[in-house]
Amino acid sequence: MNKNHVKVHVGIIGCGCSGLVALKELLDEGHQCTVFEKSNSIGGVYTQAYQQGELVSSHLLTMFSDFIGNDDSALEKPRMLSFIEYSEYLNGYAEHFRLKQFVKLQTEVKSVWKDHSENKWKVLVSNDLEQIYTFDRLAICTGVYANENMPTFKNQCLFQGKIKHFKQVQLYEEFIDKKICIVGSGESASDMILAAAKFGKKAFLSIRNDHGFIVPRYIHGDRFGPADLDTSRVHHSIPRAWGVLHTYIDMINSLVKSYLKCLIYQGGKSNDYDKVRRAGIYMNLKQIKTSNIWNTFGTKNANIVEALVKYSDTCCRKPGIKELKANSIVFEDDSEEYVDEIICCTGFRNSFPYIEESDRADQNLKRIAKEAKVSHNLYKHCLHPDLADEICWIGFARPALGAIPPLIELQARWFALLCSNKLKLPMKFDMLKQISKYVKYLEWQLTVYRVTRLTGLTDNLIYADDLARTIGCRPNFTRIFFTEPKLWLKLMCGPLINAHYRLTGPHAKPKQAKQIILKAKWVIQPNVLYSIMLMCYSFFWLVFGIESCKPASWYPL
Ligand SMILES: Cc1cc2nc3c(=O)[nH]c(=O)nc-3n(C[C@H](O)[C@H](O)[C@H](O)COP(=O)(O)OP(=O)(O)OC[C@H]3O[C@@H](n4cnc5c(N)ncnc54)[C@H](O)[C@@H]3O)c2cc1C
Repeated sequence: MNKNHVKVHVGIIGCGCSGLVALKELLDEGHQCTVFEKSNSIGGVYTQAYQQGELVSSHLLTMFSDFIGNDDSALEKPRMLSFIEYSEYLNGYAEHFRLKQFVKLQTEVKSVWKDHSENKWKVLVSNDLEQIYTFDRLAICTGVYANENMPTFKNQCLFQGKIKHFKQVQLYEEFIDKKICIVGSGESASDMILAAAKFGKKAFLSIRNDHGFIVPRYIHGDRFGPADLDTSRVHHSIPRAWGVLHTYIDMINSLVKSYLKCLIYQGGKSNDYDKVRRAGIYMNLKQIKTSNIWNTFGTKNANIVEALVKYSDTCCRKPGIKELKANSIVFEDDSEEYVDEIICCTGFRNSFPYIEESDRADQNLKRIAKEAKVSHNLYKHCLHPDLADEICWIGFARPALGAIPPLIELQARWFALLCSNKLKLPMKFDMLKQISKYVKYLEWQLTVYRVTRLTGLTDNLIYADDLARTIGCRPNFTRIFFTEPKLWLKLMCGPLINAHYRLTGPHAKPKQAKQIILKAKWVIQPNVLYSIMLMCYSFFWLVFGIESCKPASWYPL
C-alpha cells in the first residue's frame, strides 16, 4: 500500500445500491462526495420495478458487510425480502451511515466531459436549473434498468396486440383475462409467467434456448430457509471443470432429500412444493449437456416451474418465436397461439447517454463509454484501461449464482482505496493483458455464447476473492483454521456473505464481522457432501497434479 493518502472530490451518478455503497466507502476513506439521483428516492431498481416483486437472493447474501438492517433475526431466520423491504433496508443503510445529506435527488446528470485544461471532470446536471459541477473522479452507478433490451420479431408490424417489456408491468393484475406470452427464462420471466398463469386466461412461455439453472428461492419450503444458504465457500470451490458431475451429484442429493422428507415428515405424500421442486430438478437435468451448474446463469426462482406444473391446464412452454400474425404467434415448432400481449423479459442493455450523447464529451470519451457497455471489457468490470481510475463503473458485474450487491460493495471499496492512492493499478498494457485473459477464462467456464450475450456475467466466488485479494481483505484461512476453528468452519460451510471480507484489511470490523458470521444460519447436510467432494478433488490435484481438480478458490484471475 502507498502511504501518500490523497483526498479527492468524487461525483457519483445514480443512487441505487451501487451509488449508496460507493458513497459510504468513499466517505470512509475521507473523500468528498456528491451523488446525483434523477428520481425522487434512493434505492434504484427496487423502488422502480413491479412492487409485488421479491428478491431472488436472501437477505443474508444480499446485505452489505457491515449493516444487517433493523431486523436482527435476519441472521438466524433469513428470508427473501420484497422489493419494498429491500428499499427500506437501503434507506436504513443511508440513515445509519448518514449518507442522505450527500445525495441530490431529482437531479439528472445530462452530460459528462473532461476539461483537459484543468484536468478535471465536469458534470452538467438539471433539476430546476442547469448546473455544472467539477470533480477529480467519477463513479458511474446508473445500473442497467434504464434501457430495456427489446427483441424484434418477424412481421412484428402485423401484430395488433401489445408488445411490452416487463419493466412496463406494474401490477400482476394487469394480466387478468388476457392471453399472454412471456419471452425469456430469467428471474423476471419466472415471476411474470407465474403471474400470467395465475391471473391470465392462457400463458405461454417462449424460451429460445436453454433456461438458466433453476434454483428455488427456498429449500423444501420456507421451513429450511432460503436455497442460497448452501452458497458456501466449500460449495463454490468445487472445480468448474467438473460442472456436469457436480450437477448430477447436487441434483440427486436434492431428489433424495425431497423423497426422504416426504417419507419421514409427510407420510409418503408429496405436496405441491415437492412436485415443483422435483420438476425443476428434472428440467435442469434435461439440459445438462449444454447447461450445468457452473456454466450458465442461475434462475434463482422456481416460479417458472410452478407455473408449468401447477397451472398446466392454462400454461405451457413454447420454443422461440418464428413470426407474428395479426392476433397470434407462430413458434419455431410451427404451433400457432392466439395472444393479447407479449411480455419481453429479455433484460437490459448498458448505456451511458450522458457521455454517448453529450455534445461536450470528445470522441475518445464516447468511444470509451461505448466500450464500457461490454462490462467485461473493463478491468475487473470497473475500469477502462485508457482512463485508469478516473472513472469507475460500479454495479455492472453479475454473478451467475449469488447476489449482486456484495460484489458492488467490493468494487466500491477497491475504488475508494484507488482514489486515496493506497492501491496502485497495473500499467495499461498489463490491464489489457489481464482483461483478455479474464475474458478467455469466462468463455471457457460460461461458454462464448453466454459471455457475449451477458457481458456482466461472472463467477461469484472467483470474482469476489479476486477483488478481496486486490483490496487486501481476503481472510487468511490457514491462520484462522489454527486459531479460531469454529469461525473457520462457518467461513467454509456457512453462506458466502460479505462479512467474510471485513475480518481483515482496510476498514476491517472484525468484531462485528465475527458476530455476523458465527450467528448466520447455515445448512449442514449439503456442505458436508461438498466438503467430502472438495477433499477428493484436492487429493487428485495435489497428489496426481490433475489441474482440472484444482479448487476454484485457487483460480487466479
Ligand atoms: C426486477 C429486478 C430484480 C432484481 N433482483 C435482484 C435480486 O434479488 N438480487 C440481486 O442481487 N440482484 C437483483 N437485481 C439486480 C439489480 O440490478 C442489482 O442487484 C442492483 O440493484 C443494481 O443496483 P445499481 O445501483 O447498480 O442500479 P439501479 O438500482 O438501477 O440504480 C441506478 C440509479 O441510477 C439512477 N440514474 C440513472 N441515470 C441517471 C442519471 N443520468 N442521472 C442521475 N441518476 C441516474 C436511477 O434513477 C437509479 O436510481 C434485480 C434487478 C431487477 C431489474
